[in-house]
Amino acid sequence: MKNYHIGIDLGGTKIEIAILDANLIPKYKKRLPTESAKGAEHIIRKISLLYEDAKESIKGASHSIGVGTPGSLCIDKGLMRNSNTLCLNGLPLKKLIEAKIQHEIYVENDANCFALAEAVMGAGKGHSLVFGVIMGTGCGGGFVINQSIRIGPQQIAGEWGHTVINTNGPECYCGKRGCVETYISGGGLEKILRENNIYHTTAEQFFNKKTFTEKDHIILNNFYANFGFALGNVINTIDPDIVVLGGGLSNHSGLYDAGKKLAYNKIFHEHPTTPIVKNMLGDSAGVIGAALLSRN
Ligand SMILES: [Zn+2]
Repeated sequence: MKNYHIGIDLGGTKIEIAILDANLIPKYKKRLPTESAKGAEHIIRKISLLYEDAKESIKGASHSIGVGTPGSLCIDKGLMRNSNTLCLNGLPLKKLIEAKIQHEIYVENDANCFALAEAVMGAGKGHSLVFGVIMGTGCGGGFVINQSIRIGPQQIAGEWGHTVINTNGPECYCGKRGCVETYISGGGLEKILRENNIYHTTAEQFFNKKTFTEKDHIILNNFYANFGFALGNVINTIDPDIVVLGGGLSNHSGLYDAGKKLAYNKIFHEHPTTPIVKNMLGDSAGVIGAALLSRN
């Protein structure tokens, strides 16, 4: 058992580090911009800088390290795939970081880290099967079963963002059409806004508008309907004890009202009860989940 658990959240815009003590109490936190345009070597150097400072704060006491990042490492060769920090794709990320910081690390998908943090310490605490959903730039998710992440032989468990809800829908970067992500992620919604001649408005700004035009209402209602379709499918498939929403769009209250009602309409039960709730750990869930990866 290590004295401390260090988590590193390697995102497209920021790299964050946090330390939990043996009782999982957060002790330290720091972040730096990723500056991904400067390349992989630069990113790994930044991770090393953050790590050295963090290590000093615990005077070099024994610790484990987990890294959460979009995408995953393919099992056979350990090469990064599906990261939206494109310069990392195809690289043996775990080996490169370990070589730089001279310490073993665990690497896991960031949505899985979010789900783990919420299941262990957040809104999903006390529930045996937690579906953690990320609705940010993209749309990801992760299943945590009895406080362990379900990874799966292909490491795609929880990737509901790339399930298809309309075969004639918009093209997705993954090569399919009508993926959940093209409808209910921030990026997907913003594309829909542009197609409706609504420019210079982010998804979050759209939700926070003071007054809605008729067109806005149609877009919003379609958003809720697609959220309902997508989530209803997952709930019917695995019947989680709770669904915890995270990512920038999870702050939108309509998801827990109109969105939840439409999800319930799609559930194969007369009186659905699945709680659909907002996360409790906010922005910190990713880095805390990364720290929790190696807690045992
Ligand atoms: Zn897709």
